[in-house]
Amino acid sequence: MDNQYQHIKKVLDEKGVQLVAVSKTFSAADILAVYDEGQRIFGENKVQELREKQPKLPNEIEWHFIGSLQRNKVKYIASYIGLIHSLDSLSLAKEISKRAVENDRVIDALIQVKVAEERSKQGIEKSDLDEFIEDLFAEPLPGLRLRGIMGMGTFTDDELKTKSEFDEIKRMFDYLQSKYFRDNAAFDTISMGMSSDYEQAIESGSTMVRIGSLIFGDRRK
Ligand SMILES: *Cc1c(COP(=O)(O)O)cnc(C)c1O
Repeated sequence: MDNQYQHIKKVLDEKGVQLVAVSKTFSAADILAVYDEGQRIFGENKVQELREKQPKLPNEIEWHFIGSLQRNKVKYIASYIGLIHSLDSLSLAKEISKRAVENDRVIDALIQVKVAEERSKQGIEKSDLDEFIEDLFAEPLPGLRLRGIMGMGTFTDDELKTKSEFDEIKRMFDYLQSKYFRDNAAFDTISMGMSSDYEQAIESGSTMVRIGSLIFGDRRK
């Protein structure tokens, strides 16, 4: 595990790509072992699981939320969450902003976009992006800072398909950046790429990859 982590970290550092170590299903002790290797950003996809682990681990950890997030659970993570990768509705945006303000902070979030074919994959489709952004801009959301977008490819062995989906996510980012965030340097993040496809994601312009099993090993759950 150690060597694998250091190898990935070195490759990513050379390319200036940020690493989210996806620790879902792994124990606090497993996370601490990777923390001791130098990793500081960890990603979880269930609020309950994050709530159990976060108090047991160092405050220096920057926690990212990478799964579907129910509005009524935002309050449990609002005091410390570093980046929410899964913003996909106006009601969630309002709730994040409200809870951030209650905690005297601003919470960073990525708009999750949908390019994959699977119905289960969440996110805003390309045809709905403008409306979504305009809805967000129409609201006062002082506790929310938009940092970029997150996307996932279809689960497939077809590398060409994966590559073309990552290219599509990158185009969506460029479109939003030039249309709505020209004067906002904070809109700088493209979260795409996992254990099986992070190299392709980086070729397509990813700035942040989310890697679980390559670092922690296979998940049993
Ligand atoms: C689990 C998960 C990952 C990491 O998957 P691996 O294949 O283990 O690298 C990345 N992103 C999201 C949204 C996930 O749920």
